[in-house]
Amino acid sequence: MRLSRYFLPVLKETPAEAQIVSHRLMLRAGLIKQSSAGIYSWLPMGYKVLRKIERIVHEEQIRAGHIPMLMPTIQPADLWKESGRYDAYGAELLRIRDRQDRDMLYGPTNEEMITDIFRAHVSSYKDLPLTLYHIQWKFRDEMRPRFGVMRGREFLMKDGYNFDLTKEDALHAYNRHLVSYLRTYERMGLQAIPMRADSGPIGGDDTHEFLVLADTGESEVFYDAQITDLKFGDREIDYDSVEQCRAVLDEFTSRYARTDETHDAAEFAKIPEQRQRVARGIEVGQIFYFGTKYSDPLDATVQDADGNKVPVHMGSHGIGVSRLMGAIIEASHDENGIIWPEGVTPFHCGIVNLKQGDAEADAACEALYKALESHGLEPLYDDRNERAGGKFATMDLIGLPWRITVGPRGLKNGVVELTSRRTGESEELSPEAAVARVAEVYEAHKPVNAAV
Ligand code: ATP
Ligand code: MG
Repeated sequence: MRLSRYFLPVLKETPAEAQIVSHRLMLRAGLIKQSSAGIYSWLPMGYKVLRKIERIVHEEQIRAGHIPMLMPTIQPADLWKESGRYDAYGAELLRIRDRQDRDMLYGPTNEEMITDIFRAHVSSYKDLPLTLYHIQWKFRDEMRPRFGVMRGREFLMKDGYNFDLTKEDALHAYNRHLVSYLRTYERMGLQAIPMRADSGPIGGDDTHEFLVLADTGESEVFYDAQITDLKFGDREIDYDSVEQCRAVLDEFTSRYARTDETHDAAEFAKIPEQRQRVARGIEVGQIFYFGTKYSDPLDATVQDADGNKVPVHMGSHGIGVSRLMGAIIEASHDENGIIWPEGVTPFHCGIVNLKQGDAEADAACEALYKALESHGLEPLYDDRNERAGGKFATMDLIGLPWRITVGPRGLKNGVVELTSRRTGESEELSPEAAVARVAEVYEAHKPVNAAV
Protein backbone atom coordinates (compact mmCIF):
# COMPACT_ATOMS: atom_id res chain seq x y z
CA MET A 1 0.00 0.00 0.00
CA ARG A 2 1.18 3.49 -0.82
CA LEU A 3 0.45 5.89 2.00
CA SER A 4 -0.50 8.66 -0.45
CA ARG A 5 -3.43 6.52 -1.61
CA TYR A 6 -4.40 5.01 1.74
CA PHE A 7 -6.89 6.20 4.32
CA LEU A 8 -4.94 6.66 7.52
CA PRO A 9 -6.47 9.55 9.47
CA VAL A 10 -3.82 9.97 12.19
CA LEU A 11 -4.48 12.60 14.83
CA LYS A 12 -1.88 15.15 15.90
CA GLU A 13 -3.58 15.93 19.18
CA THR A 14 -4.02 13.48 22.02
CA PRO A 15 -7.78 12.88 22.33
CA ALA A 16 -8.91 14.13 25.71
CA GLU A 17 -11.65 11.52 26.16
CA ALA A 18 -9.24 8.58 26.15
CA GLN A 19 -8.08 7.54 29.62
CA ILE A 20 -5.74 4.68 28.81
CA VAL A 21 -2.83 4.45 26.44
CA SER A 22 -4.29 1.82 24.10
CA HIS A 23 -7.42 3.88 23.55
CA ARG A 24 -5.36 7.02 22.92
CA LEU A 25 -3.08 5.25 20.48
CA MET A 26 -5.94 3.56 18.64
CA LEU A 27 -7.54 6.95 18.06
CA ARG A 28 -4.28 8.72 17.23
CA ALA A 29 -3.12 6.03 14.81
CA GLY A 30 -6.43 6.13 12.98
CA LEU A 31 -7.52 2.58 13.83
CA ILE A 32 -11.03 3.30 15.11
CA LYS A 33 -13.63 6.00 15.31
CA GLN A 34 -16.35 6.05 17.91
CA SER A 35 -19.84 6.19 16.48
CA SER A 36 -21.71 6.14 19.80
CA ALA A 37 -20.78 5.13 23.33
CA GLY A 38 -19.00 1.78 23.16
CA ILE A 39 -19.65 1.36 19.43
CA TYR A 40 -16.85 1.86 16.92
CA SER A 41 -16.11 1.93 13.23
CA TRP A 42 -12.98 0.04 12.36
CA LEU A 43 -10.99 2.27 10.04
CA PRO A 44 -8.88 0.52 7.38
CA MET A 45 -5.77 -0.10 9.45
CA GLY A 46 -7.71 -1.11 12.56
CA TYR A 47 -9.77 -3.44 10.44
CA LYS A 48 -6.58 -5.04 9.11
CA VAL A 49 -5.32 -5.78 12.61
CA LEU A 50 -8.74 -7.10 13.62
CA ARG A 51 -8.61 -9.55 10.70
CA LYS A 52 -5.10 -10.66 11.64
CA ILE A 53 -6.24 -11.37 15.19
CA GLU A 54 -9.28 -13.18 13.85
CA ARG A 55 -7.15 -15.29 11.54
CA ILE A 56 -4.92 -16.50 14.37
CA VAL A 57 -8.01 -17.37 16.40
CA HIS A 58 -9.46 -19.34 13.47
CA GLU A 59 -6.20 -21.12 12.78
CA GLU A 60 -5.76 -22.27 16.35
CA GLN A 61 -9.39 -23.32 16.71
CA ILE A 62 -9.28 -25.35 13.54
CA ARG A 63 -5.96 -26.84 14.59
CA ALA A 64 -7.64 -28.03 17.79
CA GLY A 65 -10.37 -29.74 15.75
CA HIS A 66 -13.11 -27.17 16.31
CA ILE A 67 -15.50 -26.39 13.47
CA PRO A 68 -16.21 -22.81 12.27
CA MET A 69 -19.72 -21.64 11.42
CA LEU A 70 -21.69 -18.40 11.72
CA MET A 71 -24.81 -17.63 13.72
CA PRO A 72 -26.82 -14.41 13.43
CA THR A 73 -26.44 -11.38 15.68
CA ILE A 74 -30.20 -11.05 16.23
CA GLN A 75 -31.81 -13.88 18.17
CA PRO A 76 -35.42 -14.76 18.99
CA ALA A 77 -36.27 -14.10 22.65
CA ASP A 78 -38.19 -17.39 22.83
CA LEU A 79 -34.99 -19.40 23.11
CA TRP A 80 -33.85 -17.26 26.02
CA LYS A 81 -37.21 -17.65 27.70
CA GLU A 82 -36.75 -21.42 27.41
CA SER A 83 -33.38 -21.31 29.15
CA GLY A 84 -34.58 -18.83 31.77
CA ARG A 85 -31.96 -16.25 30.85
CA TYR A 86 -34.34 -13.76 29.23
CA ASP A 87 -35.19 -12.45 32.66
CA ALA A 88 -31.96 -13.40 34.40
CA TYR A 89 -29.57 -11.56 32.06
CA GLY A 90 -30.75 -8.13 33.09
CA ALA A 91 -30.22 -4.71 31.57
CA GLU A 92 -27.13 -5.67 29.55
CA LEU A 93 -29.39 -7.56 27.15
CA LEU A 94 -30.48 -5.34 24.28
CA ARG A 95 -34.10 -6.25 23.70
CA ILE A 96 -35.70 -5.49 20.35
CA ARG A 97 -39.25 -5.82 19.08
CA ASP A 98 -39.79 -6.45 15.37
CA ARG A 99 -42.75 -5.15 13.31
CA GLN A 100 -44.72 -8.36 13.96
CA ASP A 101 -44.41 -7.61 17.67
CA ARG A 102 -42.04 -10.49 18.23
CA ASP A 103 -39.47 -10.19 21.01
CA MET A 104 -35.94 -10.35 19.65
CA LEU A 105 -32.55 -9.54 21.12
CA TYR A 106 -29.06 -8.68 19.97
CA GLY A 107 -27.01 -11.67 21.10
CA PRO A 108 -24.58 -11.11 23.99
CA THR A 109 -23.54 -14.79 23.67
CA ASN A 110 -24.94 -17.87 21.91
CA GLU A 111 -25.44 -20.83 24.28
CA GLU A 112 -29.18 -21.03 23.58
CA MET A 113 -28.90 -20.70 19.83
CA ILE A 114 -26.17 -23.30 19.44
CA THR A 115 -28.07 -25.70 21.70
CA ASP A 116 -31.14 -25.21 19.52
CA ILE A 117 -29.11 -26.05 16.41
CA PHE A 118 -27.68 -29.08 18.16
CA ARG A 119 -31.03 -30.46 19.31
CA ALA A 120 -32.48 -30.06 15.80
CA HIS A 121 -29.76 -32.10 14.13
CA VAL A 122 -27.97 -34.39 16.56
CA SER A 123 -29.59 -37.34 18.27
CA SER A 124 -26.92 -40.02 18.63
CA TYR A 125 -23.81 -40.34 20.77
CA LYS A 126 -22.08 -41.40 17.54
CA ASP A 127 -22.08 -37.76 16.40
CA LEU A 128 -20.11 -36.73 19.49
CA PRO A 129 -17.76 -35.21 20.41
CA LEU A 130 -18.60 -31.99 18.60
CA THR A 131 -17.22 -28.49 19.03
CA LEU A 132 -18.63 -25.63 16.96
CA TYR A 133 -17.55 -22.02 17.11
CA HIS A 134 -18.05 -18.71 15.41
CA ILE A 135 -16.56 -15.23 15.42
CA GLN A 136 -19.44 -12.81 15.52
CA TRP A 137 -20.38 -9.39 16.84
CA LYS A 138 -21.97 -9.31 20.26
CA PHE A 139 -23.88 -6.61 22.03
CA ARG A 140 -23.94 -6.02 25.76
CA ASP A 141 -25.47 -2.80 26.95
CA GLU A 142 -22.65 -2.21 29.41
CA MET A 143 -23.35 0.28 32.16
CA ARG A 144 -20.01 2.01 31.64
CA PRO A 145 -18.55 1.42 28.20
CA ARG A 146 -15.00 2.74 28.41
CA PHE A 147 -11.37 2.35 27.47
CA GLY A 148 -12.24 2.18 23.79
CA VAL A 149 -12.62 -1.34 22.42
CA MET A 150 -11.65 -2.78 25.78
CA ARG A 151 -15.14 -2.44 27.16
CA GLY A 152 -17.37 -1.77 24.22
CA ARG A 153 -21.06 -2.34 23.87
CA GLU A 154 -20.69 -3.88 20.44
CA PHE A 155 -17.64 -6.14 20.31
CA LEU A 156 -16.28 -9.06 18.35
CA MET A 157 -16.03 -12.36 20.15
CA LYS A 158 -15.05 -15.85 19.26
CA ASP A 159 -17.40 -18.17 21.08
CA GLY A 160 -17.16 -21.92 20.89
CA TYR A 161 -19.39 -24.64 22.29
CA ASN A 162 -18.55 -28.27 22.95
CA PHE A 163 -21.06 -31.11 23.09
CA ASP A 164 -19.98 -34.34 24.74
CA LEU A 165 -21.54 -37.54 25.98
CA THR A 166 -19.87 -37.57 29.38
CA LYS A 167 -18.39 -35.18 31.86
CA GLU A 168 -14.93 -36.69 31.23
CA ASP A 169 -15.20 -35.98 27.51
CA ALA A 170 -16.40 -32.45 28.17
CA LEU A 171 -13.47 -31.86 30.51
CA HIS A 172 -11.15 -32.99 27.74
CA ALA A 173 -12.80 -30.37 25.51
CA TYR A 174 -12.17 -27.83 28.28
CA ASN A 175 -8.50 -28.76 28.45
CA ARG A 176 -8.21 -28.70 24.67
CA HIS A 177 -9.54 -25.16 24.68
CA LEU A 178 -7.08 -24.14 27.34
CA VAL A 179 -4.19 -25.43 25.23
CA SER A 180 -5.46 -23.79 22.05
CA TYR A 181 -5.91 -20.48 23.88
CA LEU A 182 -2.34 -20.53 25.20
CA ARG A 183 -1.11 -20.95 21.63
CA THR A 184 -3.46 -18.29 20.31
CA TYR A 185 -2.32 -15.56 22.69
CA GLU A 186 1.36 -16.38 22.32
CA ARG A 187 1.08 -16.04 18.54
CA MET A 188 -0.20 -12.50 19.16
CA GLY A 189 2.86 -11.74 21.24
CA LEU A 190 0.91 -11.88 24.50
CA GLN A 191 1.32 -13.72 27.75
CA ALA A 192 -2.20 -14.52 28.95
CA ILE A 193 -2.30 -16.34 32.26
CA PRO A 194 -5.14 -18.77 32.98
CA MET A 195 -6.66 -17.89 36.35
CA ARG A 196 -9.38 -19.57 38.32
CA ALA A 197 -12.45 -17.38 38.01
CA ASP A 198 -16.12 -17.02 38.74
CA SER A 199 -18.66 -18.20 36.20
CA GLY A 200 -21.03 -15.20 36.23
CA PRO A 201 -24.20 -15.34 34.10
CA ILE A 202 -22.87 -18.18 31.91
CA GLY A 203 -23.02 -20.49 34.94
CA GLY A 204 -21.12 -23.70 35.68
CA ASP A 205 -18.54 -25.41 37.85
CA ASP A 206 -15.24 -25.08 36.12
CA THR A 207 -13.93 -21.90 34.64
CA HIS A 208 -10.68 -20.12 33.92
CA GLU A 209 -10.16 -16.62 32.67
CA PHE A 210 -7.10 -15.66 30.63
CA LEU A 211 -5.51 -12.45 31.82
CA VAL A 212 -2.91 -10.20 30.28
CA LEU A 213 -1.10 -8.35 33.04
CA ALA A 214 -1.43 -4.58 32.67
CA ASP A 215 -1.77 -1.72 35.15
CA THR A 216 -4.83 -0.49 33.28
CA GLY A 217 -6.62 -3.85 33.52
CA GLU A 218 -10.04 -3.90 35.12
CA SER A 219 -9.50 -7.11 37.09
CA GLU A 220 -7.50 -7.43 40.26
CA VAL A 221 -5.40 -10.58 40.18
CA PHE A 222 -3.35 -12.56 42.67
CA TYR A 223 -0.69 -15.00 41.53
CA ASP A 224 2.51 -16.84 42.18
CA ALA A 225 5.29 -15.10 40.21
CA GLN A 226 6.54 -18.49 39.00
CA ILE A 227 3.61 -18.70 36.64
CA THR A 228 5.00 -15.95 34.45
CA ASP A 229 7.97 -18.19 33.57
CA LEU A 230 5.71 -20.65 31.76
CA LYS A 231 5.71 -20.58 27.97
CA PHE A 232 3.79 -22.84 25.66
CA GLY A 233 6.23 -22.17 22.82
CA ASP A 234 6.23 -24.30 19.73
CA ARG A 235 5.64 -27.68 21.32
CA GLU A 236 3.75 -30.25 19.32
CA ILE A 237 0.56 -31.44 20.87
CA ASP A 238 -1.97 -34.07 19.90
CA TYR A 239 -5.32 -32.44 20.63
CA ASP A 240 -6.99 -35.89 20.71
CA SER A 241 -4.72 -37.00 23.52
CA VAL A 242 -6.50 -36.69 26.86
CA GLU A 243 -3.19 -37.11 28.70
CA GLN A 244 -1.30 -34.48 26.74
CA CYS A 245 -4.00 -31.82 27.08
CA ARG A 246 -4.47 -32.63 30.74
CA ALA A 247 -0.72 -32.32 31.34
CA VAL A 248 -0.72 -28.81 29.87
CA LEU A 249 -3.68 -27.80 32.03
CA ASP A 250 -1.89 -29.16 35.11
CA GLU A 251 1.30 -27.34 34.23
CA PHE A 252 -0.40 -24.00 33.65
CA THR A 253 -2.93 -24.11 36.49
CA SER A 254 -1.09 -25.79 39.36
CA ARG A 255 0.35 -22.54 40.70
CA TYR A 256 -1.82 -20.04 42.48
CA ALA A 257 -3.44 -17.58 40.03
CA ARG A 258 -6.87 -16.15 40.71
CA THR A 259 -9.03 -13.15 40.04
CA ASP A 260 -10.47 -11.24 42.99
CA GLU A 261 -13.79 -13.12 42.70
CA THR A 262 -12.18 -16.42 43.73
CA HIS A 263 -9.18 -15.11 45.64
CA ASP A 264 -8.44 -17.04 48.83
CA ALA A 265 -6.17 -15.09 51.16
CA ALA A 266 -5.20 -18.16 53.21
CA GLU A 267 -4.11 -20.11 50.13
CA PHE A 268 -2.27 -17.08 48.75
CA ALA A 269 -0.37 -16.71 52.02
CA LYS A 270 1.15 -20.18 51.51
CA ILE A 271 3.16 -18.92 48.53
CA PRO A 272 6.68 -17.81 49.60
CA GLU A 273 6.35 -14.11 50.18
CA GLN A 274 8.84 -12.97 47.53
CA ARG A 275 6.74 -14.75 44.90
CA GLN A 276 3.36 -13.30 45.90
CA ARG A 277 2.03 -10.86 43.33
CA VAL A 278 -1.02 -8.60 43.43
CA ALA A 279 -1.56 -6.89 40.12
CA ARG A 280 -4.10 -5.93 37.51
CA GLY A 281 -5.06 -7.76 34.36
CA ILE A 282 -7.14 -7.57 31.20
CA GLU A 283 -9.49 -10.50 30.63
CA VAL A 284 -8.96 -11.63 27.04
CA GLY A 285 -10.81 -14.94 27.21
CA GLN A 286 -12.68 -17.38 29.39
CA ILE A 287 -13.47 -21.08 29.23
CA PHE A 288 -16.38 -22.80 31.00
CA TYR A 289 -17.53 -26.30 31.68
CA PHE A 290 -21.18 -26.15 32.72
CA GLY A 291 -22.45 -29.70 32.26
CA THR A 292 -26.14 -29.88 31.45
CA LYS A 293 -27.10 -26.33 32.44
CA TYR A 294 -28.45 -25.58 28.95
CA SER A 295 -29.08 -29.09 27.61
CA ASP A 296 -31.52 -29.80 30.46
CA PRO A 297 -33.94 -26.87 29.96
CA LEU A 298 -33.55 -26.94 26.17
CA ASP A 299 -33.85 -30.72 26.05
CA ALA A 300 -30.68 -31.33 24.07
CA THR A 301 -30.21 -35.06 24.41
CA VAL A 302 -28.57 -37.92 22.56
CA GLN A 303 -29.11 -41.63 22.63
CA ASP A 304 -26.19 -43.36 24.34
CA ALA A 305 -24.82 -46.79 23.39
CA ASP A 306 -27.51 -48.52 25.51
CA GLY A 307 -30.32 -46.60 23.83
CA ASN A 308 -30.95 -44.28 26.78
CA LYS A 309 -31.73 -40.62 26.18
CA VAL A 310 -29.17 -38.53 28.04
CA PRO A 311 -28.56 -34.77 28.16
CA VAL A 312 -25.27 -33.69 26.58
CA HIS A 313 -22.45 -32.16 28.59
CA MET A 314 -21.46 -28.76 27.37
CA GLY A 315 -19.00 -25.97 27.79
CA SER A 316 -18.51 -22.58 26.19
CA HIS A 317 -15.30 -20.78 25.42
CA GLY A 318 -14.85 -17.13 24.53
CA ILE A 319 -12.05 -14.98 23.19
CA GLY A 320 -12.43 -11.19 23.15
CA VAL A 321 -11.24 -10.62 19.59
CA SER A 322 -11.76 -6.84 19.50
CA ARG A 323 -10.65 -6.34 23.11
CA LEU A 324 -7.41 -8.12 22.23
CA MET A 325 -6.35 -5.22 20.05
CA GLY A 326 -6.42 -2.93 23.08
CA ALA A 327 -4.68 -5.55 25.23
CA ILE A 328 -1.89 -6.00 22.68
CA ILE A 329 -1.27 -2.24 22.60
CA GLU A 330 -1.33 -1.99 26.41
CA ALA A 331 1.34 -4.68 26.46
CA SER A 332 3.39 -3.33 23.56
CA HIS A 333 3.95 0.39 23.06
CA ASP A 334 6.35 3.18 23.99
CA GLU A 335 6.10 6.96 24.26
CA ASN A 336 6.13 7.30 20.46
CA GLY A 337 3.35 4.89 19.66
CA ILE A 338 2.31 1.31 19.08
CA ILE A 339 4.78 -1.55 18.65
CA TRP A 340 2.89 -4.31 16.85
CA PRO A 341 4.01 -7.87 17.42
CA GLU A 342 4.84 -9.48 14.05
CA GLY A 343 1.87 -11.85 14.28
CA VAL A 344 -0.76 -9.11 14.08
CA THR A 345 0.92 -6.13 12.44
CA PRO A 346 -1.26 -4.41 9.83
CA PHE A 347 1.66 -4.14 7.37
CA HIS A 348 4.82 -6.16 7.58
CA CYS A 349 7.32 -3.43 6.81
CA GLY A 350 7.32 0.32 6.32
CA ILE A 351 9.32 1.97 3.58
CA VAL A 352 10.34 5.58 4.16
CA ASN A 353 11.60 7.58 1.22
CA LEU A 354 13.75 10.42 2.55
CA LYS A 355 13.72 12.30 -0.73
CA GLN A 356 10.50 11.86 -2.61
CA GLY A 357 10.97 12.93 -6.24
CA ASP A 358 14.62 11.95 -6.35
CA ALA A 359 14.69 9.52 -9.28
CA GLU A 360 17.12 7.11 -7.69
CA ALA A 361 15.42 7.08 -4.27
CA ASP A 362 11.98 6.65 -5.84
CA ALA A 363 13.20 3.75 -7.98
CA ALA A 364 14.88 2.05 -5.02
CA CYS A 365 11.66 2.30 -2.97
CA GLU A 366 9.61 0.85 -5.82
CA ALA A 367 12.07 -2.02 -6.15
CA LEU A 368 11.93 -2.70 -2.40
CA TYR A 369 8.16 -2.62 -2.52
CA LYS A 370 8.06 -5.28 -5.25
CA ALA A 371 10.73 -7.40 -3.58
CA LEU A 372 8.82 -7.46 -0.28
CA GLU A 373 5.62 -8.37 -2.12
CA SER A 374 7.36 -11.18 -3.93
CA HIS A 375 8.09 -12.69 -0.50
CA GLY A 376 4.39 -12.64 0.31
CA LEU A 377 4.79 -9.56 2.51
CA GLU A 378 2.75 -6.40 2.53
CA PRO A 379 4.72 -3.15 2.73
CA LEU A 380 3.44 0.30 3.60
CA TYR A 381 5.37 2.81 1.52
CA ASP A 382 5.37 6.40 2.79
CA ASP A 383 5.59 8.09 -0.60
CA ARG A 384 4.22 11.43 0.59
CA ASN A 385 6.06 14.64 -0.04
CA GLU A 386 6.78 15.22 3.64
CA ARG A 387 9.78 15.94 5.79
CA ALA A 388 11.66 12.92 7.08
CA GLY A 389 10.83 13.80 10.70
CA GLY A 390 7.09 13.68 9.99
CA LYS A 391 7.41 10.36 8.18
CA PHE A 392 9.35 8.80 11.06
CA ALA A 393 6.83 10.09 13.59
CA THR A 394 3.97 8.51 11.63
CA MET A 395 5.81 5.21 11.30
CA ASP A 396 6.57 5.16 15.03
CA LEU A 397 2.98 5.98 15.90
CA ILE A 398 1.45 3.25 13.73
CA GLY A 399 4.03 0.79 15.03
CA LEU A 400 5.08 -1.42 12.13
CA PRO A 401 7.77 -3.73 13.55
CA TRP A 402 10.23 -3.07 10.69
CA ARG A 403 11.11 -0.01 8.67
CA ILE A 404 13.41 0.38 5.70
CA THR A 405 14.66 3.94 5.16
CA VAL A 406 15.88 4.93 1.73
CA GLY A 407 17.85 8.10 0.94
CA PRO A 408 20.17 9.35 -1.77
CA ARG A 409 23.20 9.34 0.53
CA GLY A 410 22.87 5.67 1.47
CA LEU A 411 22.08 4.66 -2.07
CA LYS A 412 25.42 6.11 -3.21
CA ASN A 413 27.03 3.43 -1.03
CA GLY A 414 24.52 0.81 -2.12
CA VAL A 415 22.77 0.64 1.28
CA VAL A 416 19.43 1.28 2.92
CA GLU A 417 18.69 1.34 6.65
CA LEU A 418 16.69 -1.41 8.38
CA THR A 419 15.23 -0.38 11.75
CA SER A 420 13.50 -2.44 14.40
CA ARG A 421 10.61 -0.57 15.98
CA ARG A 422 10.98 -2.57 19.18
CA THR A 423 14.68 -2.03 19.87
CA GLY A 424 15.18 1.11 17.82
CA GLU A 425 18.35 -0.45 16.42
CA SER A 426 19.28 0.31 12.83
CA GLU A 427 21.56 -1.44 10.44
CA GLU A 428 22.83 -0.50 7.00
CA LEU A 429 22.37 -3.24 4.46
CA SER A 430 22.02 -3.71 0.76
CA PRO A 431 18.35 -3.53 -0.27
CA GLU A 432 18.39 -7.27 -1.06
CA ALA A 433 19.81 -8.15 2.35
CA ALA A 434 17.25 -5.94 4.09
CA VAL A 435 14.38 -7.65 2.31
CA ALA A 436 15.84 -11.09 3.05
CA ARG A 437 16.16 -10.19 6.74
CA VAL A 438 12.55 -9.03 6.99
CA ALA A 439 11.31 -12.09 5.10
CA GLU A 440 13.22 -14.34 7.48
CA VAL A 441 11.63 -12.74 10.55
CA TYR A 442 8.15 -13.37 9.18
CA GLU A 443 8.84 -17.04 8.37
CA ALA A 444 7.70 -17.88 11.90
CA HIS A 445 4.47 -15.89 11.44
CA LYS A 446 3.14 -17.39 8.22
CA PRO A 447 -0.49 -18.53 8.11
CA VAL A 448 -0.50 -22.18 9.14
CA ASN A 449 -3.89 -23.45 8.19
CA ALA A 450 -5.27 -23.61 4.67
CA ALA A 451 -8.75 -24.28 6.09
CA VAL A 452 -9.18 -20.69 7.27
P1 ATP B 1 -16.13 -8.88 31.62
O1 ATP B 1 -15.97 -9.56 32.93
O2 ATP B 1 -14.88 -8.16 31.16
O3 ATP B 1 -17.36 -8.07 31.52
P2 ATP B 1 -17.27 -11.30 30.70
O4 ATP B 1 -16.64 -12.24 31.65
O5 ATP B 1 -18.65 -10.86 30.93
O6 ATP B 1 -16.32 -10.03 30.53
P3 ATP B 1 -17.37 -13.39 28.70
O7 ATP B 1 -18.79 -13.72 28.65
O8 ATP B 1 -16.42 -14.29 29.40
O9 ATP B 1 -17.15 -11.87 29.21
O10 ATP B 1 -16.89 -13.11 27.18
C1 ATP B 1 -15.71 -13.66 26.58
C2 ATP B 1 -14.69 -12.58 26.28
O11 ATP B 1 -15.27 -11.50 25.55
C3 ATP B 1 -14.14 -11.91 27.53
O12 ATP B 1 -13.09 -12.68 28.07
C4 ATP B 1 -13.65 -10.59 27.00
O13 ATP B 1 -12.34 -10.74 26.46
C5 ATP B 1 -14.61 -10.29 25.87
N1 ATP B 1 -15.58 -9.26 26.29
C6 ATP B 1 -16.58 -9.39 27.18
N2 ATP B 1 -17.26 -8.25 27.34
C7 ATP B 1 -16.67 -7.35 26.51
C8 ATP B 1 -16.91 -5.97 26.21
N3 ATP B 1 -17.90 -5.32 26.78
N4 ATP B 1 -16.11 -5.37 25.29
C9 ATP B 1 -15.10 -6.05 24.69
N5 ATP B 1 -14.84 -7.34 24.93
C10 ATP B 1 -15.59 -8.00 25.83
MG1 MG C 1 -15.53 -13.66 31.25
